[in-house]
Amino acid sequence: MTQKTVPSDTHDVFNQPTPLDNYNAYSSNLILRHYQKIFGPEWGEVALHEYGHRVGHELLTAGFDANHYKPEFQSHDRFGHRIDLVKYHPAYHQLMSAAIEVGHHSLPWVEDRAGAHAVRAGIEYLHTQADPGSGCPLTMTFAAVPAIRHQANIAEEWLPKITTNQYDPRNIPFFEKQGLTIGMAMTEKQGGSDVRSNTTYAYPLASTGPGEPYELVGHKWFCSAPMCDAFLVLAHTDLGLSCFLLPRWRPDGSKNAMLIQRIKDKMGNVSNASSEVEYRGAFAWMIGEEGHGVSTILEMVSLTRFDCMVGSASIMGLAVSQALHHTGGRSVFGRNLHEQPLMQNVLADLAIEAESALAISMRLAHALDKYDEEDQLLFRIGTAIGKYWICKRAAQHTSEAMECIGGVAVVEDNVLARLYRESPINAIWEGSGNIQCLDVRRAIEKNPNVMEVFWVYPGFAKKLRY
Ligand SMILES: Cc1cc2nc3c(=O)[nH]c(=O)nc-3n(C[C@H](O)[C@H](O)[C@H](O)COP(=O)(O)OP(=O)(O)OC[C@H]3O[C@@H](n4cnc5c(N)ncnc54)[C@H](O)[C@@H]3O)c2cc1C
Repeated sequence: MTQKTVPSDTHDVFNQPTPLDNYNAYSSNLILRHYQKIFGPEWGEVALHEYGHRVGHELLTAGFDANHYKPEFQSHDRFGHRIDLVKYHPAYHQLMSAAIEVGHHSLPWVEDRAGAHAVRAGIEYLHTQADPGSGCPLTMTFAAVPAIRHQANIAEEWLPKITTNQYDPRNIPFFEKQGLTIGMAMTEKQGGSDVRSNTTYAYPLASTGPGEPYELVGHKWFCSAPMCDAFLVLAHTDLGLSCFLLPRWRPDGSKNAMLIQRIKDKMGNVSNASSEVEYRGAFAWMIGEEGHGVSTILEMVSLTRFDCMVGSASIMGLAVSQALHHTGGRSVFGRNLHEQPLMQNVLADLAIEAESALAISMRLAHALDKYDEEDQLLFRIGTAIGKYWICKRAAQHTSEAMECIGGVAVVEDNVLARLYRESPINAIWEGSGNIQCLDVRRAIEKNPNVMEVFWVYPGFAKKLRY
């Protein structure tokens, strides 16, 4: 009997696109370059090209690792001492270090030349495409600066190390470190939007008032990036809700009484350790006027809302890039997917929406750069509207982009799966949709000129036309 030979190879892999990696996330993004050309200065180009290269190469890989290997919480050491330590994968530190080196957290505060906000928005846009999670402490560090400036003596000591380009992740007191990062803790269990329902209380150690030391007793329900060196915190005093800077280590070098209860197991934004904390007599300095904590911290919040907008625009930008790349490399029913009329409709809608999101974000970055009377009004109303619309749309946008790619888009080693889980988060963080609507109303009631500026400010429409 003759032996029958059976071929061992089952099939060749064909009609699958190449992965979208090893590219320059800036030079390949014509839309981002276009809006940098309109609103950004020429001097930012080199940094954006360089960072775009890093994002499209090693930081893209780091983003996958930092989300795959979740941050781990260690409450105690082996001898039973409370340590409240979060351990991150080295990829997370790589992302933080690269971003801080290029000024994601500080550029407009250290760069005298015009256009620094536009360049920084470009950097944030690029970084988000590698990992939105590490963007959270970077944003908070950036946005904390105007609030901390309210307290001259604290600002003098802290700001040089907050704005430096050196990332220092060591778990040691702030005064021994080379670089500092800042977090924020407003939200409590009983109220996130309604911060006036906060129950955390601040007791003066000696005198009361701005710059004075207090001890805080209470809890915070969301405290992202708890390894930051200090946090802007809201707490009540006898005169009402006030703003405090709460360091992780006391000025005498002892560990502050900020106890991490647990890290939240989140659906997205996984590289970012969002925690629940308790203050059991935690040391903090008052920042700004007593009883005016909300207005002090709002200066931070308007910038974090702006960053949410840029971040969601970036998520949309990456989603559409992935969809275009994939459909260009796969054929169905005799022609490439991106040549099928129905798919062209979908891709065009996605591309237009992603570009619009970026256009609005970059125009508001330009408003921050100019900051004359009209641009202040534009930023005031534009941030609330943009935060509402762009962050809300990101979820539907990424879902549609996934559908363009098909089954492979839902597999975890495809960035789309991660983008999809990330996409609703900015809409909730820093004031959800309805809160933005109420903020628009508040802005109009305070100064009706905001609407005038929004609709007819000549630079707005003209600058966006091309
Ligand atoms: C990933 C992540 C990280 C976070 N990190 C931090 C952090 O580091 N620090 C921090 O302080 N917080 C943080 N937060 C908390 C976040 O800012 C809050 O979740 C958010 O402000 C909403 O508060 P809440 O969850 O208590 O919801 P609620 O305030 O209960 O709101 C629920 C819903 O009700 C709506 N709503 C509220 N008031 C009204 C009204 N008057 N009329 C109509 N609708 C209304 C809201 O728009 C929202 O849709 C984080 C959240 C997430 C998801």
